[in-house]
Amino acid sequence: MRVLVFNAGSSSLKFGLFEGDRQIFKGSFDRFREGGCDLSFEGAEGPLEQGRAPHADLAAAIAAVPGVLAERGLDAIDAVGHRLAHGGTEFTGPARIDDAVIARIEALTPLAPLHNPAMLEGLRLASRIWPDLPQVAVFDTSFHLTNPARATTYAVPPAWRDAGLRRFGFHGTSHKYVAQRAAEALGQPLSDLRIISVHLGNGASACAVQYGASIDSSMGMTPLEGLVMGTRSGDIDPGAFGFLQRHLGLGVAAIEAALYSDSGLKALTGSPDMRDVEDRAAQGDAEAQLAINLYAYRVRKYLGSYAAAMGGVDAVVFTGGIGQNSASMRRRICDGLSFMGLMLDDDRNRAPDLSDRAAPQIQAQGSRVAIVVTETAEQLMIAREVRAMLQRPALAPRPVPVAVSGRHVHLSEASVQALFGPNYRLTEGAPLRQPGNWVAEERVTLEGPKGRLERVAILGPLRPRTQIEVSRTDSFALGIDAPVRNSGQLEGTPKVRLIGPAGTIETDGLIVAARHIHTNPAEAEAMGLSDGEMVEIEVQGADGRGLVFSHTLVRVVPGTVTEMHIDTDEANAAGISGHVDGAVVPHVQAVPRA
Ligand code: ADP
Repeated sequence: MRVLVFNAGSSSLKFGLFEGDRQIFKGSFDRFREGGCDLSFEGAEGPLEQGRAPHADLAAAIAAVPGVLAERGLDAIDAVGHRLAHGGTEFTGPARIDDAVIARIEALTPLAPLHNPAMLEGLRLASRIWPDLPQVAVFDTSFHLTNPARATTYAVPPAWRDAGLRRFGFHGTSHKYVAQRAAEALGQPLSDLRIISVHLGNGASACAVQYGASIDSSMGMTPLEGLVMGTRSGDIDPGAFGFLQRHLGLGVAAIEAALYSDSGLKALTGSPDMRDVEDRAAQGDAEAQLAINLYAYRVRKYLGSYAAAMGGVDAVVFTGGIGQNSASMRRRICDGLSFMGLMLDDDRNRAPDLSDRAAPQIQAQGSRVAIVVTETAEQLMIAREVRAMLQRPALAPRPVPVAVSGRHVHLSEASVQALFGPNYRLTEGAPLRQPGNWVAEERVTLEGPKGRLERVAILGPLRPRTQIEVSRTDSFALGIDAPVRNSGQLEGTPKVRLIGPAGTIETDGLIVAARHIHTNPAEAEAMGLSDGEMVEIEVQGADGRGLVFSHTLVRVVPGTVTEMHIDTDEANAAGISGHVDGAVVPHVQAVPRA
């Protein structure tokens, strides 16, 4: 399948043509101005043409693309993908374009007034040029919609939040791509890794990718928050607005414009370009030296905070013009992080070979945390998302029985001995639907700083590690902040006290279990699902309180019975009582979130 990908802006148009994962053409029309723009074309084998083109705006540039492709015999294409900056809370994944989707994107303009309008115009123009081809929008924000509320909520008045003020995060397509690429390079499933992705280009952001899902990112409501960037400030105290208004007489629009366009490296040194800044610093320029220190310090703080947010970190991946190319910036960022097991190797860091989308590791021997460098490939990722969406087989709708798990524990042998006495064996009670699993007749008590939960069920058989699964509501009753985790992913989880008839233990392993579907290979295939995939499941509860559960992990294990597991909070939200079947939402489509 050949996919043409557009990244349209008000001053430039970039496009790429992909056959599978291979980029067979790459073009840009840059710096639109009266009389024309700059042009650059590249084929699969390297640069083809650079110079000037007569196109003075986006409409003229897009209109020229069919001719550019036809001249090279590349005009047979199957689909068009478009980068969109902002998908609000609505677009959890790529969206096939029709009039209704265009109207919904248009309604999001207030959230991204600088970026979405040109991208939307590009989408409209392309739909006119290729009316018979599927057009798909891929949003920079979608990847971050898995962020929990504590990461997305600003502590501001309710009326502001009701108006839509919240954190979104951007660069999602890049973070998703480089996290996947890093996992591939490390030879481990993304769903087993805690990765911090650091995208340092003209815009810059960091993202905590926990077991495959973004849980926090440094950009917020807008792409202004977070790291120091070429011309953007990153984090500043919002109190600055009042100060600047009172003392300099500046209005909101002037302050906002300066934070976007006249801040960051440009404000500190006069140049937004890190190469200039590094050159000047090397010649002894004190302003440039401060800018570099400040830039690296801010990134290092985010690395520390995201390691804390995820209860540890397995890999850091650097990308973007600075992340890919500046060995000295990577060095400055990583220095001083050996306390969290992160150590850079100077030789490997000096000039990693990034050709052919390589993702070399540059950590020192003995570093617990892997450090990976790779080029980002947002257009490639968009092409992949378009392909996945269009090629996904129409799934036969099949019922997925929903099982509601109350709070329970899985105990290790050592925990059983400590709670019930030496050589104690649990009494197998009622069998569960999953073959070989049962509820024990014994019970335990959980205790946290806020309170106790009595008579908590124990599920067998025994496991190598003790795991305690509670609902979010339970975690408040205990007074402990339990993270949402997949079963078995217990590193960095909080401790809780377990009380049995013969003793008491303090053990980590307290989680809110991430919802998931158990199934076996045959039924997975019949439903078109694969192990590790995230799907959306629609559940119709009582009283018309249906819900679509997004981000539901599929676990395919031979011999298991197909069943979706949710907890009591989730069941209550969906109005579930008694037996109910869910249904896989049969396409990766934007699903409106309530
Ligand atoms: P964008 O975010 O616009 O895609 P890039 O990812 O191309 O931008 O990043 C541009 C930044 O990368 C600029 O600050 C540039 O100076 C910096 N950069 C590129 N090459 C190097 C290098 N060899 N050393 C330091 N910085 C570099």
